[in-house]
Amino acid sequence: MSDMSTVLILVDALDGKVSSAVGELATFGKRIGEVVAVVAANDGAGVAAQLSSFAIDRAIICTGADFASHSIAPIAEALAAAVAKESPTAVLITSTARGKEIAARLAVRTNSGLLTDAVDIDADAIATQSVFGGSTTVHSAVNHGTSIVTLRSNSVEVQSGSGPATTEVLAVAISDSAKKSSVTSLEATVKGGRPELTEASVVVSGGRGTNGDFAPVEAFADSMGAAVGASRAATDAGWYPHSHQVGQTGKTVSPSLYVACGISGAIQHRAGMQTSKMIVAINKDPEAPIFELADYGVVGDLFAVLPQATTAINARK
Ligand SMILES: Cc1cc2nc3c(=O)[nH]c(=O)nc-3n(C[C@H](O)[C@H](O)[C@H](O)COP(=O)(O)OP(=O)(O)OC[C@H]3O[C@@H](n4cnc5c(N)ncnc54)[C@H](O)[C@@H]3O)c2cc1C
Repeated sequence: MSDMSTVLILVDALDGKVSSAVGELATFGKRIGEVVAVVAANDGAGVAAQLSSFAIDRAIICTGADFASHSIAPIAEALAAAVAKESPTAVLITSTARGKEIAARLAVRTNSGLLTDAVDIDADAIATQSVFGGSTTVHSAVNHGTSIVTLRSNSVEVQSGSGPATTEVLAVAISDSAKKSSVTSLEATVKGGRPELTEASVVVSGGRGTNGDFAPVEAFADSMGAAVGASRAATDAGWYPHSHQVGQTGKTVSPSLYVACGISGAIQHRAGMQTSKMIVAINKDPEAPIFELADYGVVGDLFAVLPQATTAINARK
């Protein structure tokens, strides 16, 4: 595409903090054209000020709603207003459940095609998706309206830049229908200082092999600054919260390193983690299917392997 193409990236910072996922969107956007950050947050100026290390050309701060109170619908309307103003080639959004809902609403409002859960996008806005548990790679393009694409976190190394050269304010007339539901309270869950599962660069997950004792998994995760995930066997048993489930009916993660502990590697689990850059499996069964997928495997009891690994990593700090 020509250098004249514009790409909008959504900066959705409900808690006022910009995550590195925005840097990834900017990095992808740069391949296509000029990158314009659309900030839809209550403290728009404060959020825009956090974009200075990313490869972003311009920023648009949307006003017109209490974005934190009404959450998703006004953000989609604000983005639609930015699309109307900029006529971009593509709109890139982080592929969280929230991001995908915003993207879907934007697609309806702008009568555009939508691609979700992409792991890559090229200069022609052709997106790459990894489907069927990673057995098939799909390349897709939107052929109606604006290309709206949601991209999974940890899909690209963030390219640094000098941030937006200009910042403008776009006053959006948010409709009453977008304000029909409101957030009554917002409390961050206590995560014990661990990173968010879908954004973490290292994820350590436990399965049925933990037999309900996640302590060695958590200790190892903490030694690596990792997020903790779990298989459905573990979440269904009530050993770990469902919000940490990785897989087809759980979260999709794509970290630099995924460590599966006592997880057999069922197709439904793989569906949520097979795009991880490096996969390490610890399992006492040498025939466990997870070893087919793993880059490195340890055949052993996780209760013996994990404490040793944790001690060794902590000793190097
Ligand atoms: C529609 C549908 C959706 C699903 N969605 C998901 C999903 O989102 N996520 C998901 O994970 N699953 C999902 N499942 C379930 C999936 O099919 C598997 O049942 C589940 O992933 C198994 O979890 P597991 O690997 O922890 O348990 P198991 O398959 O029982 O494997 C446990 C593993 O631990 C090993 N082990 C045991 N003890 C130790 C030890 N001490 N040290 C080391 N290794 C040990 C065993 O050798 C075994 O390989 C879904 C299923 C269906 C039908």
